[in-house]
Amino acid sequence: RAKEQGRNSYQLYTPVMNDRAFERLSMENSLRRALERNEFELYYQPKVNIKSQKIVGMEALVRWRHPEKGLILPGDFIPVAEDTGLIVPMGEWVLKTACAQNKAWQNAGFPPMRVAVNLSARQFQLQNLQEMVAGVLGETGLDPCWLELEITETIAMQNAEFTVKTLKELKEMGIQLSIDDFGTGYSSLSYLKRFPINKLKIDKSFVREINTDHDNAAIASAVIVLGQSLKLGVIAEGVETEEQLEFLKEHQCDEIQGYLFGRPVPAMEFEAMILQNIIN
Ligand code: C2E
Ligand code: MG
Ligand code: MG
Ligand code: MG
Repeated sequence: RAKEQGRNSYQLYTPVMNDRAFERLSMENSLRRALERNEFELYYQPKVNIKSQKIVGMEALVRWRHPEKGLILPGDFIPVAEDTGLIVPMGEWVLKTACAQNKAWQNAGFPPMRVAVNLSARQFQLQNLQEMVAGVLGETGLDPCWLELEITETIAMQNAEFTVKTLKELKEMGIQLSIDDFGTGYSSLSYLKRFPINKLKIDKSFVREINTDHDNAAIASAVIVLGQSLKLGVIAEGVETEEQLEFLKEHQCDEIQGYLFGRPVPAMEFEAMILQNIIN
């Protein structure tokens, strides 16, 4: 284009350090500091068996306790952590903390439950992922059968051959595997069959309008049927109302997770939730 405009034209360099770029850079710096200063916390949300209403596990969800800004949700910092690679040390901290906490609950005599930890794309692609996970399990003493790793459908399908191989290795270690946010990506069903997974998690976007939107209801029930025919467990996330619960029960979903039963809470409050659940 510069050529077309003749030899007297030139192109200006536009500074890229706009507000957003600046915010990102400062976010990167404060994330780095947050790791050093231990500002991350894990919240736990119960996963409940739909028939027995008993807590069968929990998902560990990271939060950032910012000294000035207060509690920050993962949606606001995971993408930057992912881009900068900080997700790798952060993810290891999350895994270690979740496994150690679960082991501590088992040691304290609570009925054993499975803790689920989310893996980001970058973590999943790590060369030494299995080594890292094995190291954490060894260090914390948690039996691999009480750990579940969640990867999103989009991550799983990005490089499906690699996914098959990696999941097989994790599975051989005795770890449980779930496909998160299922239905939001594009799964090839032939790959889905080859992934050695245990569970599909129906994304909350389908659950939200399950009682009012025909398409969402159709997708949710189709995922349940798909899970059943592939002999996979199915869990629905984002269950907020009794009506949603009823729908999922009728369609024989196995487990639910959502505000209706319990929000993500700090470990101490989660413990109270378990105690309450054991009594009832
Ligand atoms: P996700 O793994 O799909 O987790 C479920 C999200 O839905 C959580 O949001 C949870 O708080 C929220 N949720 C649960 N029940 C309900 C409900 O009934 N209604 C509504 N509206 N929301 C509900 P959160 O904690 O903000 O986490 C968002 C995402 O951030 C997670 O989605 C996951 O992808 C990512 N994430 C969270 N913790 C970690 C982590 O430690 N490592 C990595 N790599 N990603 C994480
Ligand atoms: Mg998840
Ligand atoms: Mg999810
Ligand atoms: Mg989700």
